[in-house]
Amino acid sequence: MHPPRDLFLPTAPAPWQRAALGANLLGQDGQLGVTIFEEMTTLALQTGAINLGQGFPDEDGPAEIRAAAQAAIGAGANQYAPGKGTVELREAVAAHQERFYGLAPDPQTEVIVTTGATEGIAASLLALTGPGDEVLTFEPFYDSYGAMIGLSGATHVTAPLLAPDFLPDMAALEAAFSHRTRVVLLNNPHNPTGAVFPLEVLQRVVDLATKHDCLIITDEVYEHLTFGVSHIPVATLPGAAERTLTISSAGKTFSFTGWKIGWLTGPERLVSAVRTVKQFLTYSSGTPFQAAIATALALPDDFYAGVSATLRHKRDILSEGLRAAGFEVFTPQGTYFVNVDTAPLGIKDSVDLARRLPALVGVAAIPVPVFCHPDGAERTRSLLRFAFCKKVEVLEEAAARLASLSGRL
Ligand code: PMP
Ligand code: GLN
Repeated sequence: MHPPRDLFLPTAPAPWQRAALGANLLGQDGQLGVTIFEEMTTLALQTGAINLGQGFPDEDGPAEIRAAAQAAIGAGANQYAPGKGTVELREAVAAHQERFYGLAPDPQTEVIVTTGATEGIAASLLALTGPGDEVLTFEPFYDSYGAMIGLSGATHVTAPLLAPDFLPDMAALEAAFSHRTRVVLLNNPHNPTGAVFPLEVLQRVVDLATKHDCLIITDEVYEHLTFGVSHIPVATLPGAAERTLTISSAGKTFSFTGWKIGWLTGPERLVSAVRTVKQFLTYSSGTPFQAAIATALALPDDFYAGVSATLRHKRDILSEGLRAAGFEVFTPQGTYFVNVDTAPLGIKDSVDLARRLPALVGVAAIPVPVFCHPDGAERTRSLLRFAFCKKVEVLEEAAARLASLSGRL
């Protein structure tokens, strides 16, 4: 007789569980865990801390866009949307790509709507990679990349981004390519570091992808959240469009992270491969929210400029507070995250600090090592990420609380 099984423990961790930032997702006893975002948000709720961990705005997007979603529900847009997205949203995405970047995807064949960028990333990797392939990302990397590369069966290879500006080590980038590299998974502007990659870096990625004949999947969800620098979609570079899938989402630009509307553009044969997989992940994405985001994408240029100006101001307020608290601050050029080095306060382990910070001073943050494999975690061991997509008064209160940190350590 076998001893009774604990059905809540996996017999053996699935490859994606092992790949998915094991230390955080898979507890030491093998239990399935929660993502670092979930863990820190729960901790913030339990302690009443200001949550500068998980990146979500504390104010909703434009009232007219909320009204558009309500109107769509009222008008009966409540059943399945077409699998590839409503025509109006696909056309709005194509018009957005044309207006901001001069790209002209065909809304019929080169655009699909996804359930957030998360599904776009998942469906692209599942459609285009598999066992025997390597997928190359920068490190630190957004947490779902590790999990989804693992789920696809491919191997995750990384090239480091280095403080203070978090640009890639070019020699390491070149060395990370191999004949097995199937996909370069880019994220620009970059979460968690806030880096916005300049033209030379992007062109080098395209040249290397061309040399090794691989695809580029680029996650540009923070495309409009840049401060004083322009976002350059990698698909606009010479030689890139034919091998690039571009992913974005309404969550960040319009402050509706809970609506989970994303999209993906690129050459027809790549988009249709992704669409095939998307059918079996979610089939289709929220109908009334698609109508509202079609309206949102058509907002005038000054709306987009306002998003960036407001966040820049918030970045500066929080950065000042973090500096005053004794951290070394790495000023981001994009996203709504700022990274700090905690070492000047004598801290060696930001994972440990992040777990103590809510109770210590009433602020939650995310440790950067959780976005890394073991080598990268060592390199980023004292770094911590704070989100600044919060009301100005909330950021000021967080800064005031953090000011007392050095005395409490
Ligand atoms: N990619 C990056 C880099 C992100 O930071 C996020 C979310 N914060 C996502 C993808 C997921 O986007 P969505 O909520 O649209 O699924
Ligand atoms: N992308 C958000 C962040 O980086 C979190 C999204 C999530 O909780 N998965 O904070």
